Amino acid sequence: MMKKTIQQLTSSDRVLLASHANPDGDAIGALLAMGLALEKLGCEVVLYNESAIPAVYRFLPSVTSIREQLAELKYFDTAVILDCGDLSRVGSMADAIKAIPAIVNIDHHITNTRFGQYQLVDVNACATAEIVYRLIRAMDIEIDTDMATAIYTGILTDTGSFRFSNTNQAAFAICETMVAAGVKPSQVAQHVYGTYSLGRIKLLNLALDSIEISHNGKLSIMTVTREMLADTGTQAEDADGLINYARRIQDVKMAALIHELENGNGKPADRKRFHVSLRSDGSVDVSRIAMGFGGGGHAGAAGFSVESSLLELKQTIFNLSDGFSETCQLN
Ligand code: 5GP
Ligand code: MN
Repeated sequence: MMKKTIQQLTSSDRVLLASHANPDGDAIGALLAMGLALEKLGCEVVLYNESAIPAVYRFLPSVTSIREQLAELKYFDTAVILDCGDLSRVGSMADAIKAIPAIVNIDHHITNTRFGQYQLVDVNACATAEIVYRLIRAMDIEIDTDMATAIYTGILTDTGSFRFSNTNQAAFAICETMVAAGVKPSQVAQHVYGTYSLGRIKLLNLALDSIEISHNGKLSIMTVTREMLADTGTQAEDADGLINYARRIQDVKMAALIHELENGNGKPADRKRFHVSLRSDGSVDVSRIAMGFGGGGHAGAAGFSVESSLLELKQTIFNLSDGFSETCQLN
């Protein structure tokens, strides 16, 4: 599939590259690295993400080339979709993008729906940036410092700084090569983890205070409401990573972060849309749980969106903890 994908990319003149809405470091890093590589091949590229780029990733070289809007889609011969378990993850433009003649699906989620004629899906890859790295190497394109910084950031953030269960040998090997190509780890870390607004720190305080634990102690729920964001002058992106506090509590097997989005359409009036992030200690496959709610992700980190009242949603999530067994272990 790698060969066929390279043939398709090298014979394309105009390529659209897109990654998932509300992007994380991997969605942005993989997008930028792939875009820079295809430009080196002489392709005309457009980089697209529906959401604004979080402040912590705005240091990335050529990040300003990512567009939030797309006008003419007839123009493209190929679309490269990065870090998306299904095509709808790119957001409101998904249906229009589907009409582009060739779709390349580059992803590492276990729940990937195998969309697109060209699939570079490796569920063992630590990050989509790992697959992008391999593709760039296979295309014989030299990795400059800008591309290296994008790849490094993707791997660093998706492995939780080499702590999560997806941290593999390739994560270290590629990052070593990226450092040799000019990446400065301390500078990347300073941007990504070391410079938070005061509001973000105050949001952390409210989020920690919201933590609730199930009766058996195996499940924690953290809640971030729109009111909390308003009170601290923060955005949804400032909740990124907060779930790790709920996850690392002793005896907790699964943590859920309930993120309040907009008001729901249905009745009663207290129904709202929520995004729920799930994290596991390694003993619960949260990708399965997320799939049960129409979402997806990895065994250790997954998510879904629902419309519900907050109370009902918390009850539904707490009920899941009854099914957690002591014995099942993921690798
Ligand atoms: P997060 O909880 O940080 O939003 O996402 C955790 C992981 O699950 C990420 O790899 C993300 O791409 C995936 N994920 C989150 N929400 C969804 C969803 O609604 N659908 C699918 N397919 N994957 C999701
Ligand atoms: Mn990823």
